Amino acid sequence: MNDQGTYICDACGEQIVIPLDVSAGARQDYIEDCPVCCHPNHIYVDLDEDGRADVRAHAAQ
Ligand SMILES: [Zn+2]
Repeated sequence: MNDQGTYICDACGEQIVIPLDVSAGARQDYIEDCPVCCHPNHIYVDLDEDGRADVRAHAAQ
């Protein structure tokens, strides 16, 4: 079970490591400020049956 995921910040291009809450459901999306540049990103998390995460991020408005 993988409880961390990574995404690339849309604003600064840094790779950001995030904790995953596998109990929150297989599909999650939320807004999170980039810890590097503080730009808000809309995070999309897809968890498969093996607990692998596909994390994507887009710049939030
Ligand atoms: Zn950033």
